[in-house]
Amino acid sequence: MIAIENIRKDFPILNRTVNGQPLVYFDNAATSQTPQQVIDVIVDYYQNYNANIHRGVHSLSQEATDKYEEARIKIQKHFNAAKSYEIIFTSGTTHSINLVANGFTSLLQAEDEIIVSALEHHSNIVPWQMLCERTGAILKVIPMTTEGTLDLATYETLLSEKTKLVFCNHVSNALGTINPIEAIITKAHKVGAAVLVDGAQAAPHIKADVQALDVDFYVTSAHKMCGPTGVGMLYGKESWLKKLPPYQGGGEMIAEVTFEKTTYADLPHKFEAGTPNICGGIAFGAAIDYMNQIGFDAIASYEHELLDYATEKLATIDGLRIYGPKETNLKASVISFNIEGVHPYDMGVILDKLGIAVRTGHHCAQPIMDFYCIPGTVRASFAFYNTKAEIDTLVAGVERAANMLR
Ligand code: PMP
Repeated sequence: MIAIENIRKDFPILNRTVNGQPLVYFDNAATSQTPQQVIDVIVDYYQNYNANIHRGVHSLSQEATDKYEEARIKIQKHFNAAKSYEIIFTSGTTHSINLVANGFTSLLQAEDEIIVSALEHHSNIVPWQMLCERTGAILKVIPMTTEGTLDLATYETLLSEKTKLVFCNHVSNALGTINPIEAIITKAHKVGAAVLVDGAQAAPHIKADVQALDVDFYVTSAHKMCGPTGVGMLYGKESWLKKLPPYQGGGEMIAEVTFEKTTYADLPHKFEAGTPNICGGIAFGAAIDYMNQIGFDAIASYEHELLDYATEKLATIDGLRIYGPKETNLKASVISFNIEGVHPYDMGVILDKLGIAVRTGHHCAQPIMDFYCIPGTVRASFAFYNTKAEIDTLVAGVERAANMLR
Protein backbone atom coordinates (compact mmCIF):
# COMPACT_ATOMS: atom_id res chain seq x y z
CA MET A 1 0.00 0.00 0.00
CA ILE A 2 1.16 3.49 -0.87
CA ALA A 3 0.57 6.13 1.81
CA ILE A 4 0.21 8.75 -0.87
CA GLU A 5 -0.32 11.82 1.33
CA ASN A 6 2.81 11.06 3.34
CA ILE A 7 4.81 10.29 0.24
CA ARG A 8 3.85 13.56 -1.42
CA LYS A 9 5.14 15.44 1.63
CA ASP A 10 8.60 13.99 0.88
CA PHE A 11 8.73 15.87 -2.45
CA PRO A 12 8.88 19.63 -1.81
CA ILE A 13 8.70 20.44 -5.53
CA LEU A 14 5.17 19.01 -5.72
CA ASN A 15 3.96 22.01 -3.70
CA ARG A 16 4.96 24.58 -6.27
CA THR A 17 2.80 26.24 -8.86
CA VAL A 18 3.53 26.59 -12.57
CA ASN A 19 1.84 29.39 -14.50
CA GLY A 20 -0.33 30.03 -11.48
CA GLN A 21 -1.58 26.43 -11.33
CA PRO A 22 -0.58 23.63 -8.97
CA LEU A 23 2.16 21.60 -10.65
CA VAL A 24 1.09 18.27 -12.11
CA TYR A 25 4.34 16.50 -12.92
CA PHE A 26 3.90 13.80 -15.53
CA ASP A 27 7.38 13.87 -17.07
CA ASN A 28 8.79 11.20 -14.80
CA ALA A 29 10.19 9.15 -17.67
CA ALA A 30 12.49 12.07 -18.52
CA THR A 31 13.56 12.57 -14.92
CA SER A 32 12.01 11.76 -11.57
CA GLN A 33 11.62 14.19 -8.70
CA THR A 34 13.88 14.12 -5.66
CA PRO A 35 12.60 13.44 -2.14
CA GLN A 36 13.74 15.51 0.83
CA GLN A 37 15.59 12.47 2.21
CA VAL A 38 17.90 12.51 -0.85
CA ILE A 39 18.18 16.32 -0.89
CA ASP A 40 19.29 16.12 2.77
CA VAL A 41 22.04 13.66 1.87
CA ILE A 42 23.30 16.03 -0.84
CA VAL A 43 23.31 19.01 1.54
CA ASP A 44 24.97 16.94 4.28
CA TYR A 45 27.78 15.97 1.92
CA TYR A 46 28.62 19.56 0.97
CA GLN A 47 28.10 20.89 4.48
CA ASN A 48 30.02 18.25 6.38
CA TYR A 49 32.40 15.98 4.49
CA ASN A 50 33.07 17.27 0.98
CA ALA A 51 36.48 15.81 0.02
CA ASN A 52 38.13 13.87 -2.75
CA ILE A 53 37.99 10.13 -2.30
CA HIS A 54 40.32 7.13 -2.41
CA ARG A 55 43.54 9.07 -2.05
CA GLY A 56 43.42 11.12 1.12
CA VAL A 57 44.64 9.99 4.51
CA HIS A 58 42.70 12.75 6.22
CA SER A 59 39.39 12.07 7.95
CA LEU A 60 37.12 13.93 5.53
CA SER A 61 38.51 12.01 2.58
CA GLN A 62 38.05 8.73 4.41
CA GLU A 63 34.50 9.61 5.41
CA ALA A 64 33.62 10.51 1.82
CA THR A 65 35.31 7.34 0.54
CA ASP A 66 33.41 5.16 3.02
CA LYS A 67 30.06 6.70 2.10
CA TYR A 68 30.78 6.41 -1.64
CA GLU A 69 31.75 2.75 -1.31
CA GLU A 70 28.71 2.12 0.91
CA ALA A 71 26.58 3.50 -1.93
CA ARG A 72 28.22 1.09 -4.36
CA ILE A 73 27.23 -1.77 -2.05
CA LYS A 74 23.65 -0.47 -1.83
CA ILE A 75 23.49 -0.50 -5.64
CA GLN A 76 25.07 -3.97 -5.72
CA LYS A 77 22.49 -5.32 -3.28
CA HIS A 78 19.60 -3.62 -5.04
CA PHE A 79 20.43 -5.19 -8.40
CA ASN A 80 21.71 -8.37 -6.74
CA ALA A 81 25.15 -8.27 -8.36
CA ALA A 82 27.48 -10.99 -7.07
CA LYS A 83 30.37 -8.57 -6.35
CA SER A 84 30.47 -4.89 -5.45
CA TYR A 85 33.24 -4.34 -7.99
CA GLU A 86 30.89 -5.41 -10.75
CA ILE A 87 29.15 -2.05 -10.18
CA ILE A 88 30.91 0.79 -12.00
CA PHE A 89 29.86 4.36 -11.25
CA THR A 90 29.28 6.34 -14.44
CA SER A 91 27.67 9.67 -15.28
CA GLY A 92 24.53 7.84 -16.41
CA THR A 93 23.06 5.35 -18.86
CA THR A 94 24.57 7.04 -21.90
CA HIS A 95 28.06 6.95 -20.38
CA SER A 96 27.61 3.30 -19.35
CA ILE A 97 26.60 2.24 -22.86
CA ASN A 98 29.45 4.16 -24.47
CA LEU A 99 31.90 2.57 -22.05
CA VAL A 100 30.82 -0.92 -23.16
CA ALA A 101 30.63 0.01 -26.86
CA ASN A 102 34.10 1.45 -26.73
CA GLY A 103 35.44 -1.64 -24.97
CA PHE A 104 34.09 -3.95 -27.65
CA THR A 105 36.09 -2.17 -30.37
CA SER A 106 39.01 -4.49 -29.74
CA LEU A 107 36.81 -7.57 -29.32
CA LEU A 108 34.88 -7.40 -32.62
CA GLN A 109 35.90 -8.18 -36.16
CA ALA A 110 34.50 -7.10 -39.51
CA GLU A 111 31.34 -9.06 -40.39
CA ASP A 112 30.55 -9.84 -36.75
CA GLU A 113 26.93 -9.00 -36.05
CA ILE A 114 25.29 -6.99 -33.33
CA ILE A 115 21.56 -6.78 -32.75
CA VAL A 116 19.53 -3.89 -31.32
CA SER A 117 15.80 -3.70 -30.79
CA ALA A 118 13.60 -1.30 -32.76
CA LEU A 119 12.36 0.15 -29.47
CA GLU A 120 15.63 1.72 -28.38
CA HIS A 121 16.46 5.18 -27.11
CA HIS A 122 19.08 6.89 -29.29
CA SER A 123 21.64 6.27 -26.58
CA ASN A 124 21.27 2.55 -27.22
CA ILE A 125 21.53 2.93 -31.01
CA VAL A 126 24.15 5.53 -31.83
CA PRO A 127 27.07 4.10 -29.80
CA TRP A 128 26.56 0.73 -31.57
CA GLN A 129 26.47 2.40 -34.98
CA MET A 130 29.74 4.11 -34.09
CA LEU A 131 31.12 0.74 -32.97
CA CYS A 132 30.12 -0.76 -36.34
CA GLU A 133 31.89 2.08 -38.15
CA ARG A 134 35.07 1.41 -36.15
CA THR A 135 35.04 -2.36 -36.57
CA GLY A 136 33.11 -3.22 -39.74
CA ALA A 137 30.58 -5.14 -37.68
CA ILE A 138 26.99 -5.26 -38.95
CA LEU A 139 24.00 -3.87 -37.08
CA LYS A 140 20.72 -5.80 -37.26
CA VAL A 141 17.39 -4.74 -35.82
CA ILE A 142 14.68 -6.74 -34.00
CA PRO A 143 11.56 -5.28 -35.62
CA MET A 144 8.58 -3.94 -33.68
CA THR A 145 4.91 -4.65 -34.15
CA THR A 146 2.12 -2.05 -34.45
CA GLU A 147 1.26 -3.00 -30.86
CA GLY A 148 4.64 -1.54 -29.85
CA THR A 149 6.12 -4.91 -28.86
CA LEU A 150 9.15 -6.74 -30.21
CA ASP A 151 8.85 -9.39 -32.90
CA LEU A 152 10.62 -12.28 -31.16
CA ALA A 153 10.09 -14.73 -34.02
CA THR A 154 12.18 -12.51 -36.30
CA TYR A 155 14.71 -12.04 -33.50
CA GLU A 156 15.34 -15.79 -33.55
CA THR A 157 16.07 -15.69 -37.26
CA LEU A 158 18.62 -12.88 -36.78
CA LEU A 159 20.66 -14.85 -34.26
CA SER A 160 23.60 -16.91 -35.48
CA GLU A 161 27.15 -17.76 -34.47
CA LYS A 162 28.10 -14.40 -36.02
CA THR A 163 26.07 -12.55 -33.36
CA LYS A 164 28.39 -11.14 -30.72
CA LEU A 165 26.17 -8.67 -28.88
CA VAL A 166 22.49 -7.98 -28.32
CA PHE A 167 21.05 -4.72 -26.89
CA CYS A 168 17.59 -4.09 -25.65
CA ASN A 169 15.92 -1.81 -23.18
CA HIS A 170 14.05 -3.35 -20.29
CA VAL A 171 11.24 -0.78 -20.64
CA SER A 172 10.75 1.49 -23.66
CA ASN A 173 10.84 5.18 -22.70
CA ALA A 174 8.71 6.15 -25.70
CA LEU A 175 5.89 3.61 -25.33
CA GLY A 176 6.32 2.04 -21.89
CA THR A 177 6.54 -1.50 -23.31
CA ILE A 178 8.10 -3.99 -20.89
CA ASN A 179 10.33 -6.08 -23.12
CA PRO A 180 10.74 -9.86 -22.67
CA ILE A 181 14.39 -9.52 -21.71
CA GLU A 182 14.52 -13.00 -20.12
CA ALA A 183 13.77 -14.62 -23.49
CA ILE A 184 16.07 -12.19 -25.33
CA ILE A 185 18.96 -13.02 -22.99
CA THR A 186 18.44 -16.82 -23.07
CA LYS A 187 18.28 -16.92 -26.85
CA ALA A 188 21.35 -14.68 -27.25
CA HIS A 189 23.36 -16.84 -24.86
CA LYS A 190 22.53 -19.95 -26.91
CA VAL A 191 24.61 -18.51 -29.77
CA GLY A 192 27.29 -17.19 -27.40
CA ALA A 193 26.36 -13.49 -27.69
CA ALA A 194 26.60 -11.06 -24.78
CA VAL A 195 23.55 -8.96 -23.82
CA LEU A 196 23.36 -5.39 -22.57
CA VAL A 197 20.04 -4.33 -21.09
CA ASP A 198 19.28 -0.62 -20.83
CA GLY A 199 17.44 -0.37 -17.54
CA ALA A 200 17.00 3.43 -17.53
CA GLN A 201 13.21 3.28 -17.72
CA ALA A 202 12.78 0.04 -15.80
CA ALA A 203 14.75 1.10 -12.73
CA PRO A 204 12.01 3.27 -11.15
CA HIS A 205 9.39 0.54 -11.58
CA ILE A 206 11.03 -2.89 -11.56
CA LYS A 207 13.73 -4.25 -9.28
CA ALA A 208 15.96 -6.14 -11.70
CA ASP A 209 17.97 -9.10 -10.42
CA VAL A 210 21.03 -9.26 -12.66
CA GLN A 211 22.05 -12.73 -11.49
CA ALA A 212 18.60 -14.24 -12.01
CA LEU A 213 18.45 -12.58 -15.44
CA ASP A 214 21.98 -13.83 -16.18
CA VAL A 215 22.44 -10.54 -18.05
CA ASP A 216 25.98 -9.56 -19.06
CA PHE A 217 25.55 -5.79 -18.68
CA TYR A 218 22.75 -3.77 -17.08
CA VAL A 219 22.81 0.03 -17.02
CA THR A 220 20.79 2.84 -15.52
CA SER A 221 20.79 6.49 -14.40
CA ALA A 222 20.13 7.66 -10.84
CA HIS A 223 17.92 10.54 -11.96
CA LYS A 224 15.25 8.14 -13.21
CA MET A 225 14.87 6.73 -9.71
CA CYS A 226 14.69 9.71 -7.34
CA GLY A 227 18.43 10.42 -7.42
CA PRO A 228 20.37 13.33 -8.89
CA THR A 229 21.40 13.82 -12.53
CA GLY A 230 24.94 13.16 -13.70
CA VAL A 231 25.40 9.79 -12.03
CA GLY A 232 24.47 6.25 -12.96
CA MET A 233 25.83 2.78 -13.03
CA LEU A 234 27.08 -0.02 -15.21
CA TYR A 235 26.70 -3.55 -13.95
CA GLY A 236 28.95 -5.95 -15.81
CA LYS A 237 29.73 -9.58 -15.13
CA GLU A 238 33.23 -9.79 -13.70
CA SER A 239 34.43 -11.91 -16.62
CA TRP A 240 33.31 -9.25 -19.12
CA LEU A 241 34.64 -6.30 -17.16
CA LYS A 242 38.02 -8.02 -16.99
CA LYS A 243 38.01 -8.54 -20.76
CA LEU A 244 37.05 -4.96 -21.66
CA PRO A 245 39.85 -2.39 -21.86
CA PRO A 246 39.51 0.84 -19.86
CA TYR A 247 37.34 3.56 -21.40
CA GLN A 248 39.20 6.66 -20.23
CA GLY A 249 42.73 7.10 -18.98
CA GLY A 250 43.65 9.28 -16.02
CA GLY A 251 44.03 9.31 -12.26
CA GLU A 252 42.33 6.67 -10.10
CA MET A 253 42.29 4.00 -12.83
CA ILE A 254 45.98 3.08 -12.74
CA ALA A 255 48.12 0.68 -10.75
CA GLU A 256 51.52 1.99 -11.86
CA VAL A 257 52.47 4.79 -14.29
CA THR A 258 55.84 5.22 -15.97
CA PHE A 259 56.54 6.81 -19.34
CA GLU A 260 57.35 3.35 -20.69
CA LYS A 261 54.19 1.55 -19.55
CA THR A 262 51.12 1.99 -17.39
CA THR A 263 49.30 -0.81 -15.65
CA TYR A 264 45.64 -0.51 -14.76
CA ALA A 265 43.92 -0.69 -11.41
CA ASP A 266 41.65 -3.58 -10.51
CA LEU A 267 37.89 -3.42 -10.87
CA PRO A 268 35.96 -1.21 -10.40
CA HIS A 269 38.61 1.56 -10.51
CA LYS A 270 39.89 0.52 -13.95
CA PHE A 271 36.73 2.14 -15.36
CA GLU A 272 36.54 5.10 -12.99
CA ALA A 273 39.16 7.57 -14.20
CA GLY A 274 39.26 11.00 -12.58
CA THR A 275 37.32 12.49 -9.69
CA PRO A 276 33.84 11.03 -9.85
CA ASN A 277 30.50 12.58 -8.94
CA ILE A 278 31.07 11.70 -5.29
CA CYS A 279 28.03 13.43 -3.85
CA GLY A 280 25.91 12.06 -6.72
CA GLY A 281 27.02 8.50 -6.04
CA ILE A 282 26.21 8.80 -2.35
CA ALA A 283 22.83 10.35 -3.18
CA PHE A 284 22.17 7.52 -5.67
CA GLY A 285 22.55 5.08 -2.76
CA ALA A 286 20.15 7.20 -0.67
CA ALA A 287 17.60 7.22 -3.52
CA ILE A 288 17.74 3.44 -3.71
CA ASP A 289 17.20 3.26 0.06
CA TYR A 290 14.24 5.61 -0.25
CA MET A 291 12.56 3.62 -3.02
CA ASN A 292 13.15 0.30 -1.27
CA GLN A 293 11.65 1.67 1.90
CA ILE A 294 8.44 2.30 -0.03
CA GLY A 295 8.86 -1.07 -1.73
CA PHE A 296 8.94 -1.96 -5.40
CA ASP A 297 5.89 -4.23 -5.20
CA ALA A 298 3.83 -1.41 -3.71
CA ILE A 299 5.21 1.04 -6.28
CA ALA A 300 4.43 -1.27 -9.20
CA SER A 301 0.88 -2.01 -8.12
CA TYR A 302 0.05 1.63 -7.36
CA GLU A 303 1.53 2.84 -10.64
CA HIS A 304 -0.47 0.22 -12.50
CA GLU A 305 -3.60 1.51 -10.87
CA LEU A 306 -2.69 4.99 -12.15
CA LEU A 307 -1.89 3.61 -15.60
CA ASP A 308 -5.20 1.75 -15.88
CA TYR A 309 -7.14 4.75 -14.63
CA ALA A 310 -5.47 7.18 -17.03
CA THR A 311 -5.72 4.79 -19.99
CA GLU A 312 -9.44 4.36 -19.44
CA LYS A 313 -10.10 8.10 -19.00
CA LEU A 314 -7.95 9.27 -21.93
CA ALA A 315 -9.50 6.67 -24.23
CA THR A 316 -12.85 8.46 -23.89
CA ILE A 317 -11.47 11.57 -25.63
CA ASP A 318 -12.54 11.83 -29.23
CA GLY A 319 -9.75 11.10 -31.76
CA LEU A 320 -7.18 10.13 -29.12
CA ARG A 321 -4.86 7.27 -30.00
CA ILE A 322 -2.54 5.62 -27.51
CA TYR A 323 0.64 4.07 -28.94
CA GLY A 324 2.14 0.92 -27.45
CA PRO A 325 0.62 -2.23 -25.98
CA LYS A 326 -3.11 -2.13 -25.33
CA GLU A 327 -2.81 -4.47 -22.38
CA THR A 328 -1.53 -2.33 -19.56
CA ASN A 329 0.14 -5.32 -17.86
CA LEU A 330 2.65 -5.29 -20.74
CA LYS A 331 3.59 -1.70 -19.87
CA ALA A 332 5.22 0.42 -17.22
CA SER A 333 3.54 3.70 -16.38
CA VAL A 334 3.89 5.59 -19.65
CA ILE A 335 1.09 6.75 -21.93
CA SER A 336 2.20 8.00 -25.34
CA PHE A 337 -0.65 9.50 -27.33
CA ASN A 338 -1.79 11.84 -30.07
CA ILE A 339 -5.08 13.44 -30.94
CA GLU A 340 -6.13 13.50 -34.54
CA GLY A 341 -5.50 16.93 -36.06
CA VAL A 342 -3.43 18.19 -33.10
CA HIS A 343 0.36 18.57 -33.15
CA PRO A 344 1.89 17.07 -29.98
CA TYR A 345 4.02 20.18 -29.42
CA ASP A 346 0.94 22.46 -29.37
CA MET A 347 -0.72 20.13 -26.89
CA GLY A 348 2.38 20.25 -24.67
CA VAL A 349 2.47 24.07 -24.69
CA ILE A 350 -1.18 24.39 -23.66
CA LEU A 351 -0.85 21.74 -20.96
CA ASP A 352 2.11 23.65 -19.56
CA LYS A 353 -0.04 26.78 -19.30
CA LEU A 354 -2.33 24.65 -17.13
CA GLY A 355 0.58 23.60 -14.90
CA ILE A 356 0.82 20.10 -16.39
CA ALA A 357 4.29 18.87 -17.34
CA VAL A 358 4.32 16.26 -20.10
CA ARG A 359 6.93 15.49 -22.72
CA THR A 360 6.28 16.02 -26.40
CA GLY A 361 8.35 14.98 -29.40
CA HIS A 362 10.22 11.88 -30.47
CA HIS A 363 11.50 11.01 -26.98
CA CYS A 364 14.98 10.24 -28.40
CA ALA A 365 13.43 7.29 -30.21
CA GLN A 366 13.00 8.56 -33.77
CA PRO A 367 12.82 5.07 -35.35
CA ILE A 368 9.64 4.39 -33.33
CA MET A 369 8.07 7.64 -34.56
CA ASP A 370 9.11 6.79 -38.13
CA PHE A 371 7.47 3.39 -37.74
CA TYR A 372 4.15 5.05 -36.88
CA CYS A 373 4.76 7.86 -39.45
CA ILE A 374 4.26 10.58 -36.85
CA PRO A 375 6.46 13.53 -35.80
CA GLY A 376 6.14 12.61 -32.14
CA THR A 377 3.70 11.97 -29.35
CA VAL A 378 2.53 13.52 -26.11
CA ARG A 379 3.92 11.38 -23.31
CA ALA A 380 2.49 11.35 -19.81
CA SER A 381 4.57 9.22 -17.45
CA PHE A 382 3.57 8.49 -13.87
CA ALA A 383 5.44 7.91 -10.65
CA PHE A 384 4.35 6.58 -7.27
CA TYR A 385 3.89 10.17 -5.97
CA ASN A 386 1.24 11.00 -8.58
CA THR A 387 -2.49 10.75 -7.91
CA LYS A 388 -5.74 9.98 -9.71
CA ALA A 389 -6.82 13.57 -9.05
CA GLU A 390 -3.80 14.73 -11.07
CA ILE A 391 -4.85 12.39 -13.87
CA ASP A 392 -8.31 13.99 -13.82
CA THR A 393 -6.58 17.37 -14.25
CA LEU A 394 -4.61 15.97 -17.19
CA VAL A 395 -7.69 14.53 -18.88
CA ALA A 396 -9.59 17.80 -18.48
CA GLY A 397 -6.54 19.70 -19.80
CA VAL A 398 -6.19 17.45 -22.84
CA GLU A 399 -9.89 17.83 -23.65
CA ARG A 400 -9.68 21.60 -23.30
CA ALA A 401 -6.54 21.84 -25.43
CA ALA A 402 -7.99 19.56 -28.09
CA ASN A 403 -11.09 21.74 -28.33
CA MET A 404 -8.91 24.84 -28.74
CA LEU A 405 -6.60 23.29 -31.33
CA ARG A 406 -8.99 21.38 -33.59
N1 PMP B 1 17.70 4.78 -22.30
C1 PMP B 1 16.44 5.02 -21.98
C2 PMP B 1 15.42 3.94 -22.17
C3 PMP B 1 16.08 6.27 -21.44
O1 PMP B 1 14.81 6.52 -21.13
C4 PMP B 1 17.07 7.26 -21.25
C5 PMP B 1 16.72 8.62 -20.69
N2 PMP B 1 15.64 9.24 -21.34
C6 PMP B 1 18.39 6.95 -21.60
C7 PMP B 1 18.67 5.70 -22.11
C8 PMP B 1 19.50 7.93 -21.44
O2 PMP B 1 19.71 8.22 -20.09
P1 PMP B 1 20.70 9.39 -19.65
O3 PMP B 1 20.30 10.59 -20.45
O4 PMP B 1 20.44 9.54 -18.19
O5 PMP B 1 22.08 8.95 -19.97
